[in-house]
Amino acid sequence: MKKISILTFGCQMNRADSERMLGEMQIDGFELTENLDEADLILVNTCCVRESAEEKIFGKLGELKHLKTKNPNLILGVTGCMAQKDGSKILEKARHVDFILGTGKISKLRSIVAEIESNRKKIIDTALDEFADTRSISIARENSINAWIPIMYGCDNFCTYCIVPHVRGRERSREPIQILREIETCSAPEITLLGQNVNSYSHGFADLLRAADKIESIKRIRFMTSHPKDLNDDVINAIANGEKICEHIHLPIQHGSNRILKRMNRGYTVEKYLDLAQKIREKIPNVSITTDLIVGFPGESEEDLDLTLEMLKQIRFDAAFTFIYSRRSGTPADQFSDQIPDEIKHSRLNRLMEVQNRISFEINSAMKDQSVEILVEGESKSDSKIWTGRTRTNKIVLFEHRDESIGDLIQVKIIQPQTWILKGVIE
Ligand code: SF4
Repeated sequence: MKKISILTFGCQMNRADSERMLGEMQIDGFELTENLDEADLILVNTCCVRESAEEKIFGKLGELKHLKTKNPNLILGVTGCMAQKDGSKILEKARHVDFILGTGKISKLRSIVAEIESNRKKIIDTALDEFADTRSISIARENSINAWIPIMYGCDNFCTYCIVPHVRGRERSREPIQILREIETCSAPEITLLGQNVNSYSHGFADLLRAADKIESIKRIRFMTSHPKDLNDDVINAIANGEKICEHIHLPIQHGSNRILKRMNRGYTVEKYLDLAQKIREKIPNVSITTDLIVGFPGESEEDLDLTLEMLKQIRFDAAFTFIYSRRSGTPADQFSDQIPDEIKHSRLNRLMEVQNRISFEINSAMKDQSVEILVEGESKSDSKIWTGRTRTNKIVLFEHRDESIGDLIQVKIIQPQTWILKGVIE
């Protein structure tokens, strides 16, 4: 049997793509291996959202070169966002790479590998095929607990810092029937509906949530990412009234200054976001709201940072993923002349995290002695007796394992809340 290894960088969308690439190659008899030395095909599924990710990927490609010397029949392919963005430039820097396949091209993977197997020529295919990736293809899921279900691809928003619309193309949605069939057959207890902006799913995101909620074989439904400008009442009501739809909304605000939000082209103000968060909390009891924040965007002043710190104290997110602004060539923000020096970005990031970590700890502390339902995910990384599970609100709970199985829904009492995790005991 031929062996395949896939190295996946970046976001959940890339992980979902890797599962599809593996599923496709299994049709041609490839079997997954973690051992790169025995692989006949290595795919490096790339991300270009931050410069550091790109550097890491070139480092990895360099490391793989010796495997080509050892096994001249090894096929090395680069896929994903960086493949789409840089195309032939990757081959100039890493001449041992055999093919470059852009985004939305998974259905072409098998024929490209077969072609290289027969004539060993280099292939670059980065023409954006707007429809290829909305077709249903084979999937080999890496996680038995959560199934990533892409519902749409691409993005039309053109935030000024973001490379995604340039490398993943315009928004296109999958047909509801394809998505619902995929959910019915996925065999995972939990699904996550994926898209860069699920709220602009063109066949109606609220309708999709309601239809998914009726599928008996699943226990929980998650979704990401929501854009604040598109999250409407219908979706909020669907979450509030749904049985399996989890009470967690990841709603990136990105900044607390209207001046910076405008420069980012985000399409909302802090006040609008505050109203939305308040409405969500009124309609969905015990909801958790998490967010993304960018620090050090061009032109960000100390006053803008203070506004962000104030906004954090006002909204009180359950958690925030904080990122230092990273310049991406081809985006408008890369052209802004008032870039912020690195040391200032880092010190501002620390101030932001300090405030948010305190808020996360306070919110989690209020959960002490509460009984919560968790979906059992399996052993923790550090101790086989300690297992992990996740609340409906997406908080990780550690507990001492008895005889629970992966995928069970159990009740635990929270005994020791911390900033990032909760410790609990089975009830
Ligand atoms: S909404 Fe903005 S940040 Fe998100 S993928 Fe689209 S362009 Fe990028």
